[in-house]
Amino acid sequence: MPAGTSLPDRPPFVLRARLLTPLTGGGTGYLRDGALAVDATGRIEAVTDWEAWARAATTAGRRSDAEAMLSAVVDLRPLVVLPGLVDLHVHLPQLPNAGVGAGLDLLTWLGRYIFPLEAEFDAATAERVAPAAFRAMAAAGTTTAMMYGAVFEPSLDIAFRAAETHGIRAIIGKVMMDRLTYDDRLPADRILELSLRQSADLCSRWNGRDDGRLQYAFTPRFAVSCTADMLRESAALARQTGAYWQTHLSEDVHEIREVARLFPDAVDYVDVYDRAGGLGPRTVLAHAIHLSDREVARIAETDTALAHCPASNLFLASGAMPLARYLAAGIRVGLGSDVAAGPELSLFANMRAGAYVMNGLRVLEGDDAPGPLVPSEWLRIGTLDGARALGLDERIGSLEVGKEADLIVIDPRMVAPIPGIDSDDPDEIVSRLAFRPHPAMVRGAWVRGRRLDGPPGTEALDG
Ligand SMILES: [Zn+2]
Repeated sequence: MPAGTSLPDRPPFVLRARLLTPLTGGGTGYLRDGALAVDATGRIEAVTDWEAWARAATTAGRRSDAEAMLSAVVDLRPLVVLPGLVDLHVHLPQLPNAGVGAGLDLLTWLGRYIFPLEAEFDAATAERVAPAAFRAMAAAGTTTAMMYGAVFEPSLDIAFRAAETHGIRAIIGKVMMDRLTYDDRLPADRILELSLRQSADLCSRWNGRDDGRLQYAFTPRFAVSCTADMLRESAALARQTGAYWQTHLSEDVHEIREVARLFPDAVDYVDVYDRAGGLGPRTVLAHAIHLSDREVARIAETDTALAHCPASNLFLASGAMPLARYLAAGIRVGLGSDVAAGPELSLFANMRAGAYVMNGLRVLEGDDAPGPLVPSEWLRIGTLDGARALGLDERIGSLEVGKEADLIVIDPRMVAPIPGIDSDDPDEIVSRLAFRPHPAMVRGAWVRGRRLDGPPGTEALDG
């Protein structure tokens, strides 16, 4: 990389780099010397071999433009450009607790660490935490995040405003709880009504802003802290507004027992949400670890999406989600960091955790268990499949012409076992990023070609 190379802040621009991406039609695209052109609107205009792009740029008839085009090129070799990562499940107010509390069961952990923290997430705390959280997400390589806020309406406006300014692609929802809640500011008999109204107001203010970069998700926390009325009414609002609906499902055995006690008429946990009208293509359910065949079939049938949170599932000793079984059933699955039940925002670290879980299941279940995913399949789950889970795969999730330029650039030298070890095999490149992630390896991130604050840039690498 030439000395003094700095990353472009705004489109249009052209990156010369190694380009690695899942492809919509299947398989992985890799160009060892590629050109990625982003037009003035922030869309990907070309993804091609460098020689071919440079030749086209200098052909007769375009000669007048050629010099300008070539001067707009930023040469990032040997760095690798990937599509930005899609985090389907992360809790904004919980970030300050990340990395603390491993090994507890979910309900104990919520009571001891999380509810007291979320109860403090007022407007002033949100002003402090939200911008820093978005910078940290971008530094981890996340360009799209589906988030839970806390219960307090003003903190959600602040979070949305911070996302609007930062540039990250964000789906956020006010957490709704009308029992077992930490919100003692509202009269108990009005929590349901007020929570629905505040959520609907937030949705009307923010859903679809900036041409869909910001979206709203109605967010009943989970069946333990929501009555059947809350689940049903929030799902109805999501349907009416076209917003998302997100909640937790089947995370650990104590929680499942509690849900069975609270909803004695439901056949199983999935049925609790099914009866509320909560299943469907605009719904993302996090965890979904301990599902019966009936529940898996019902999720597939309703085209409901799942957020796989493997690091969180191990951190809290919740269980091992059988990913291969869900993929075989045709369920849309993406990755979730689930900070702070997950210890870090990096989805690369979650690819590693997910791969270890699959290996662990093979040890326990024997040779009948499905084989592990290859690394490029993990990259697909963290990018294009996450976009598909959100219904955004026509806009983002891969480096393909016509898509919005949500990109990250990574320095693979930071994950080399010893200096000088490198590879031009896409599976080997992704394998080292997933199994040896370095906290500073993501050097830049863009949404629609606009650079996000957070990653350290490339200047420090020069010379
Ligand atoms: Zn969660």
